[in-house]
Amino acid sequence: MFVLDYRGQGDCAVWAQIGGKAVELMQKLTILTGAAKYDAACTSSGADRAGGQGLGNALPAGCCHAFSADGRCISLLKVLLTNHCVYDCKYCVNRSSNDVPRTAFTPRELAELTIQFYRRNYIEGLFLSSGVVQSPDHTMERMIAVLELLRGEYNFWGYIHAKAIPGASAALIDRMGRLADRLSINVELPSEQSLRQLAPNKSREGIFRPMGLIAQQLQQNTQELAIYHRAAKFVPAGQATQMIIGAS
Ligand code: SF4
Repeated sequence: MFVLDYRGQGDCAVWAQIGGKAVELMQKLTILTGAAKYDAACTSSGADRAGGQGLGNALPAGCCHAFSADGRCISLLKVLLTNHCVYDCKYCVNRSSNDVPRTAFTPRELAELTIQFYRRNYIEGLFLSSGVVQSPDHTMERMIAVLELLRGEYNFWGYIHAKAIPGASAALIDRMGRLADRLSINVELPSEQSLRQLAPNKSREGIFRPMGLIAQQLQQNTQELAIYHRAAKFVPAGQATQMIIGAS
């Protein structure tokens, strides 16, 4: 497993190519793949076997899987852009009141890592989420910068699943949706009251408005594509969500 080898015995070529930042990047990757493991929009599960660290151990964070349109199972680098978060959702390991090591990738670092791992056949795509830094819009801008680097500069057309940030503006949801294959926004909790109790910085409006926008844009894009076959596709793999049951 490439993400958790602190002893430097992993695939050194990846880190050598990225330069002297190897240790720092390895630490970031370890923290930010670990922090992403509670995002449940994927099919992976790993069993905790006695004896731990052997070949093929499926427990460490870092990869998840999705199914392509033709039914193939593809592996994704599953990572947060940052685990810094100004929100304090009671159920989340990244909540602002939790005392955990914090770090962040630059968009360039994360785009470069994704490409390096893709070229080595470790992964076929990216699952990108993030804690909220400054504001939903600021965070979305940084996530979009990763996607723009991948799609534009690196000419990467592999599968990307991005988690949109609740409360983000319509323009940014639209931009992200034209770069990603799949978007999701977590519903999180079943009622406004449980949101107030467990995720006080979030509102139903901030969650359902962008979900509605994605649904609207998808419908509009279907009509555009029927007329203009070359129209840019908007989240061709659709949208997903997740909800916590039994917490409130
Ligand atoms: S906004 Fe997301 S990352 Fe931040 S505390 Fe809430 S669930 Fe966790």
